[in-house]
Amino acid sequence: MPKSGISEFGEFHGLHVAAPQPGFRRIRWLPAVPRSDRVRVVQHTCDCRDVVYELCAAGGLLFIRRMTYAADGTVRELIETDRFVAARTTRLWAGLLAGTDR
Ligand SMILES: [Zn+2]
Repeated sequence: MPKSGISEFGEFHGLHVAAPQPGFRRIRWLPAVPRSDRVRVVQHTCDCRDVVYELCAAGGLLFIRRMTYAADGTVRELIETDRFVAARTTRLWAGLLAGTDR
């Protein structure tokens, strides 16, 4: 996971997810299963939060990974969505950031 940079101009922040909106859609999260295929992180939310989301690509499909970090920096929980075609997962990613899906 890339660390947020700190410079003389202050701390840089990446994407932050919005608070869940009223009536938000519940994303179906599944326990992450280790697989042999190569996973590429396309986009990720800011690591200043305890929960970091990653938009991931593998085998021509996209999925979202959700990592919860403990205070000591270790991953306490790793869950992920099903793998879908790009358009569907990109919509889900946008909804996650906007707070309409969580
Ligand atoms: Zn941040």
